[in-house]
Amino acid sequence: MKKIVVALDGYSGTGKSSTAKQVASRLGYTYIDSGAMYRAVTYFFLINNVDFSNVGQVEKSLKKCDISFSGTSIYLNGANVDNEIRTMDVNNHVSQVSAISAVRAKLVEHQRKMGEEKGVVMDGRDIGTIVFPNAELKVFMTADMDVRAERRRKELLKKGIDEKLEVIKENLNQRDHIDSTRADSPLKKADDVREIDTSHLTLNQQIDKIVEMAESIIYEG
Ligand code: C5P
Repeated sequence: MKKIVVALDGYSGTGKSSTAKQVASRLGYTYIDSGAMYRAVTYFFLINNVDFSNVGQVEKSLKKCDISFSGTSIYLNGANVDNEIRTMDVNNHVSQVSAISAVRAKLVEHQRKMGEEKGVVMDGRDIGTIVFPNAELKVFMTADMDVRAERRRKELLKKGIDEKLEVIKENLNQRDHIDSTRADSPLKKADDVREIDTSHLTLNQQIDKIVEMAESIIYEG
């Protein structure tokens, strides 16, 4: 059977990761959370007090930063960091770190290798534009800010973090701004992308829509 690459891009808090994980499972594909990779590098820089503005220091530290996945869990130099990468401290610095070209070059190369054999669903900001410009299915997810912030709040609460909605909105706005205006691989819609507004969709409806799109390409293409 034909295998494809599903590229899922969009703003923070639109439900990309939860959707992508389930879409991958329904298709029998591998799910790759590219945002988790940028978060892991950010966490590594934070615990090692790396000065983000010092290119030499950043490049040197990147050499000591090994990222891998086991199932949907992410490992940094062999240690599971699923929880460590979801803190507000990482949220507040990740867009700054992901704007650094040396960081992007390393992670994009890794992402392309993981998708070489196809049969992957990858979510992020530049998957359909830069990482896999030839992906057979590209989806761009959007949602109203209030909905996004509420979703993020629930996600943090599940992890025992009780954050004010206003603080979350501010963080999302700030990340949208940095992600969309950075010089290297800004968040933007690919020309051949299919847009889904998830504001009024349930998670299952989002999943069904994308699985349907993917299957029509897999079986008819
Ligand atoms: O998807 P998530 O919100 O976990 O991503 C965290 C951050 O990582 C984003 O705000 C963005 O700055 C960065 N990112 C990126 N390119 C990707 C995925 C994530 O720049 N492909």
